[in-house]
Amino acid sequence: MTTPSFDVVVVGGGIVGLATAHAVARTGRSVAVVEREQQLARHQTGNNSNVIHSGLYYAPGGFKARLAVAGCAETVAFCREHDLPHEVTGKLVVATEPEELPRMAELRRRGDANGVENHELDQAGMREHEPHVRGIAALYVPSTGITDYKAIAEKIGELVAKEGGEIHLGRAVTGIARRAEDVVVRTDAGDLLGKQVVVCAGLRCDDMARAAGADPGIRIIPFRGEYSGFSERAAGLVKGLIYPVPDPAFPFLGVHATRGIDGHVHAGPNAVLALAREGYSWGAVNPREFLQTITYPGMLKVAQRHWKYGFGEMHRSLSKKAMVKQIQRMLPDVRAEDLHPAGAGVRAQAVKRDGTLVDDFLFVDQGSGPGSVLHVLNAPSPAATAALPIGREILERLTGEKLAPLAA
Ligand SMILES: Cc1cc2nc3c(=O)[nH]c(=O)nc-3n(C[C@H](O)[C@H](O)[C@H](O)COP(=O)(O)OP(=O)(O)OC[C@H]3O[C@@H](n4cnc5c(N)ncnc54)[C@H](O)[C@@H]3O)c2cc1C
Repeated sequence: MTTPSFDVVVVGGGIVGLATAHAVARTGRSVAVVEREQQLARHQTGNNSNVIHSGLYYAPGGFKARLAVAGCAETVAFCREHDLPHEVTGKLVVATEPEELPRMAELRRRGDANGVENHELDQAGMREHEPHVRGIAALYVPSTGITDYKAIAEKIGELVAKEGGEIHLGRAVTGIARRAEDVVVRTDAGDLLGKQVVVCAGLRCDDMARAAGADPGIRIIPFRGEYSGFSERAAGLVKGLIYPVPDPAFPFLGVHATRGIDGHVHAGPNAVLALAREGYSWGAVNPREFLQTITYPGMLKVAQRHWKYGFGEMHRSLSKKAMVKQIQRMLPDVRAEDLHPAGAGVRAQAVKRDGTLVDDFLFVDQGSGPGSVLHVLNAPSPAATAALPIGREILERLTGEKLAPLAA
């Protein structure tokens, strides 16, 4: 039997892999997506806050800033075109203590530099948006929204198939071998050939890079983000999206309250070290992976630098009282009995050997043209928002071809 062969093989059926495959298929090239789970979007894409980020937070000039701003508009347009659930709600970023004001001012500067509309509000102004919020000042960002990324990913998958692409579910990639003119993608159900390969394997992207003979220069450290659902009473305290001012030492946005597209309100995600790559709860432990995580030099440095924050997050994960206290900083009327566990996602956060938490998206090319592999090595939040522009960016890196946004 001849080995199936494609212009591009994409490893990973999350939103980034699917958006990449879609960009490739739009140019008429043949493409296959290989996903080891039985369904698309089973990991980060299907377990996140479902927020369409505006691009406010990100360092001007970086990938995150450029691709999130483009992705915010494109995600809304895509949802409109395909009749997918979404709403442009706007959001508040709330400063609760005076020492947060300089950081809020920095967010304003970043937002202005990134072309993201934002307005500073005093207490009366913030209460007009969110009557139950407590804070000393806030930023209002009108372009932020909510959606369902699993539904978006499934729709992109449908479009890929419609354009002739193949989606292989329940098929794990076990190795990647570069050759002069193509790349062999080894899977547990036989080989595939790609002239070029793109690896968008999320929590396992560093393993895949090593499997392809590349030194990723980073290790993926899985940080679980747990959510707490609000009772009906507490849900009445939240109209839209209420965020804290983030701590710039971490690439996480802080525990926020979100009214989802289904109308339910949840708070989260926190950030605790997961005990397995797909460690969705404290009970999900993979001793080998955990050992690899805690013996990685970069992780030891993260632990040395941020142990206080780490223990704080662990405490809030294990103690409802501590979690409630955190939420009460912005929403003082929330009570312990209002909260119930509401699932978790695990972030694939790239960490360098020197302990730096990689902030921007990270793309690493192994060669160029036929026989090359492009590795997406850091695509945490806001990569769901930015997925469609990321797909076009990757296509351009592979082929030099520039595509227009899907829907303007
Ligand atoms: C708690 C949390 C909250 C977040 N909130 C937001 C938000 O509100 N807005 C936003 O824009 N972003 C948010 N994000 C980030 C966003 O979810 C991710 O940036 C995005 O989903 C990344 O997509 P991906 O395709 O790279 O990864 P994934 O969705 O994780 O997909 C990777 C895929 O690769 C597959 N795979 C791995 N190894 C193999 C293999 N060997 N063979 C075949 N397949 C393989 C996996 O099964 C998986 O399906 C959040 C993330 C988390 C965890």
